[in-house]
Amino acid sequence: PRPTPESLLAQLQESDVKFLRLQFTDILGNTKNVEVPKSQFQKALNGDVTFDGSAVEGFTRVEESDMLLSPDLSTFLIYPLFSRDAPQDGHDRGRVARLICNVTLPDGSPFEGDPRYVLQRQIERARALGFEMFVGTEPEFFLFERTPDGRGTTVTHDKAGYFDLAPIDKGERIRREIANKLVDMGFEIEASHHEVAPGQHEIDFRYAPALETADRIATFKFVVKRVAMEHGLLASFLPKPIADVHGSGMHCHVSLFKGGKNAFDDPDGEHGLSQTAHHFIAGLLAHAEGMTAITNPLVNSYKRLVPGYEAPVNIAWSTSNRSALIRIPAKRGNSTRAELRSPDPSCNPYLALAVTLAAGLDGLAQKLEPAPAIQRNIFKMTVREKRHHRVKELPGDLREAVNELQKDEVLAAALGEHLLDHFIEAKTAEWREYSQTIHQWELDKYLDLI
Ligand code: GLU
Ligand code: MG
Ligand code: MG
Repeated sequence: PRPTPESLLAQLQESDVKFLRLQFTDILGNTKNVEVPKSQFQKALNGDVTFDGSAVEGFTRVEESDMLLSPDLSTFLIYPLFSRDAPQDGHDRGRVARLICNVTLPDGSPFEGDPRYVLQRQIERARALGFEMFVGTEPEFFLFERTPDGRGTTVTHDKAGYFDLAPIDKGERIRREIANKLVDMGFEIEASHHEVAPGQHEIDFRYAPALETADRIATFKFVVKRVAMEHGLLASFLPKPIADVHGSGMHCHVSLFKGGKNAFDDPDGEHGLSQTAHHFIAGLLAHAEGMTAITNPLVNSYKRLVPGYEAPVNIAWSTSNRSALIRIPAKRGNSTRAELRSPDPSCNPYLALAVTLAAGLDGLAQKLEPAPAIQRNIFKMTVREKRHHRVKELPGDLREAVNELQKDEVLAAALGEHLLDHFIEAKTAEWREYSQTIHQWELDKYLDLI
């Protein structure tokens, strides 16, 4: 049965919950929350809690600074106890629950700058065509040591590599604890393993409709950081914290379903893929340059998108190799899907999935056909071969990516004017700050020489 404000209020009381967190995400992808005590539960469940939007990055519109948090009741959950919440000195601080919210204006209409709403709009567009997008993600992250006074470092606590097993290290114990916490919060964990680089990990959870997956990514990051902190480590989703080892990606496996059936699957189609799949993939390829600022939003993101570390550089698709932007995993039937390999875990999950869906839907609307799939390792192709196969490259830095996004009218429409303007303003400022900084590299390279 769908939860109602009454049923949730009863559950909050039964479980002796003392605080309720109303959670939302700002334009840059930071999770925010307003915590309310028991006395405000009824009000919160009814969507009557206001907050000052002008204090939130990208929400600033003075005339609309009073905003409402309108909870999605299906996202209700009671947090498991984290060790810091355990009763101390006989004092029980009580349980905490959360609801993910949409941000609305005082008259109840949706706020254009709310990333969750941007994704919901694309989901509605797909629904009008009879489609639902499912997404499974593979978020990667590093566990780093902290200094005795608590500051983060990039020193890893292990020397293990991909799928390494023994000896059980600190990272593995923490990873298990993260997985257990997530299970307590209703996640179905499919795999959890050590990644290629020392200190690097991946935890995969089951695919779900796009909105649910975006909500889960936000929850996932919070749990990973929290558990690591309790063990005195720093969990970082920075895409490329260490120059000469693998970076952290967040591959997104996407598929469309129609009437309960996977709409990408067609045993008679080329590569076992339907016409719908071909159009969708063509849409992703056509908008790949514009999407990148959203899927890879940091200056640092572009240090991951370089050859040699299993991260994509080339705009192409493949059914067999991992050097392409889009890979089609071997499974067909209801598991038929496209793996988009560019997103990194610093992205705003709502916006990343919104532009993915918008790009794919544009491919469908325009009946775009993708260039032939490339089955060779693209990193080994010469410039001429790449040109021959019409393989372009992803933007090389944040500035280029922002320019590409500005040129892409389909994505601009999907994001909406308010959100796009704030995003571009924030990213342009970030780029300017970066390029005006004198980096150690420049001094090492030029100071003596010039
Ligand atoms: N860490 C790689 C990346 O940056 C991906 C490795 C993998 O295939 O899991 O995307
Ligand atoms: Mg991985
Ligand atoms: Mg993958």
